[in-house]
Amino acid sequence: MSGTPQLTLYNTLTRTKEAFTPLDPSNVRMYVCGPTVYDFAHIGNARPVIVFDLLFRLLRHVYGADHVTYVRNITDVDDKINARALRDFPDLPLNEAIRRVTEKTEAQFLSDVSALGTLPPTVQPRATDNIGEMQTLIAELIRRDHAYNAAGEVLFAVDTMPDYGQLSGRNLEDNLAGARVAVDRHKKNPADFVLWKQSADNEPGWDSPWGRGRPGWHIECSAMSERYLGQTFDIHGGGLDLIFPHHENEIAQSRCAHGTHAMAQVWMHNGFLQVEGQKMSKSLGNFITINDLLQTGAMGGHAWHGEVLRLAMLMTHYREPIDFSLKRLEEAESKLRNWQQAAWGAEISESGQPDASVVKELADDLNFHRASVALDFIAKRANRNEGDAKHCLAATLRFLGFSLDSLLTSDEGWEEPAHIATAIAERLAALNNKDFARADAIRNELAEQGIALMDYKDETGERRTRWEVKR
Ligand code: AMP
Ligand code: ZN
Repeated sequence: MSGTPQLTLYNTLTRTKEAFTPLDPSNVRMYVCGPTVYDFAHIGNARPVIVFDLLFRLLRHVYGADHVTYVRNITDVDDKINARALRDFPDLPLNEAIRRVTEKTEAQFLSDVSALGTLPPTVQPRATDNIGEMQTLIAELIRRDHAYNAAGEVLFAVDTMPDYGQLSGRNLEDNLAGARVAVDRHKKNPADFVLWKQSADNEPGWDSPWGRGRPGWHIECSAMSERYLGQTFDIHGGGLDLIFPHHENEIAQSRCAHGTHAMAQVWMHNGFLQVEGQKMSKSLGNFITINDLLQTGAMGGHAWHGEVLRLAMLMTHYREPIDFSLKRLEEAESKLRNWQQAAWGAEISESGQPDASVVKELADDLNFHRASVALDFIAKRANRNEGDAKHCLAATLRFLGFSLDSLLTSDEGWEEPAHIATAIAERLAALNNKDFARADAIRNELAEQGIALMDYKDETGERRTRWEVKR
């Protein structure tokens, strides 16, 4: 498209930053691995959600909102889910208990991430709605001699794929050396991984040509990405920890089942959110849930706005690690408040375009830091009421997933702009003097700046006015 910058993206597969050219610019296709729904998501899980939302917004801007398909799956079949269902609902039939756990967790996840200023992906498929597609893929892998049946499992045979390990840079010898051979005696190669495993009576299962069972983890993403995006698509994303084995094995499955050279053109991975140098994770117990941060005083003694977490996350380049801290949240809050104050009173229009310099910085492998420096500059101009800086700032904030007043309306630390306080006092004086023409003129002046006035009487019967930003 003319006037829009060339995107460059870092590709884990080639370990270089590359110019991005979609396979089909009329349908740019991106798949991001979503949550396993057994418990609250922690703020580390929020990182890929926020990072790939920013990329989704950028792609929509460059190729057109109707020309991007973003798929983020919901993993609702997993042994951790079974365990949680048995623990929380021991008296219910297993299927019903699992449904309770996954429905509740999925709803919580969706509400958590929508508070982070993220757009819903185009499709959010559930693994359990795609079991048939997974079985078709597995059957095809068996037919092509890439998979075999052993000890009640269908396994992918890594030796049948000469370039297995390209994404992670691991070769099969590395895998052999690290594997505990004794445990996996039924495997031809210890690196072989499960496509389908049999289920005991007290485990969830689906009928299949290989007995009643359930899919391995990796096959679901191969099946769902094919269903919604085709055999080869543009971008596949997730956190660093997914490179091996998950993404490596997705590639093996998809390419070997379809006989293709690539599953996705570009593989993108966000760095870890860390606490004192360690990855935030459920298993280490060093986590804060999104819900905790947004609803309770889990950090700093008060709840934080979701957009503050969004900015706190984006302030560091997506490939770098983040050491999460209270100071980071405070910095993000103060930065967002400055931007919102500078955009105060901007005309609100859906068609407003984001600033070109901000877009240009993001187009360089999502360099949000440099984009935010550009935004600071626009905010300075907006504060001096230069040109259309205010409107440009407002449109850019919206493009980046921030609202214009989330920190202003209910924020104690923020002072009411002096000109509004003065105008309200003047207007009240005019009303009390029955100078309605003057009172209306003041109201209209503020309305033009996007500020609505509401009159009311306080407990003593005295006339007062409050104001809010018109949406
Ligand atoms: P999981 O539910 O563990 O599969 O994780 C869901 C997504 O969150 C995956 O893309 C992970 O790579 C990502 N993720 C998990 N922990 C972190 C973390 N501490 N920092 C950044 N991303 C993470
Ligand atoms: Zn996946």
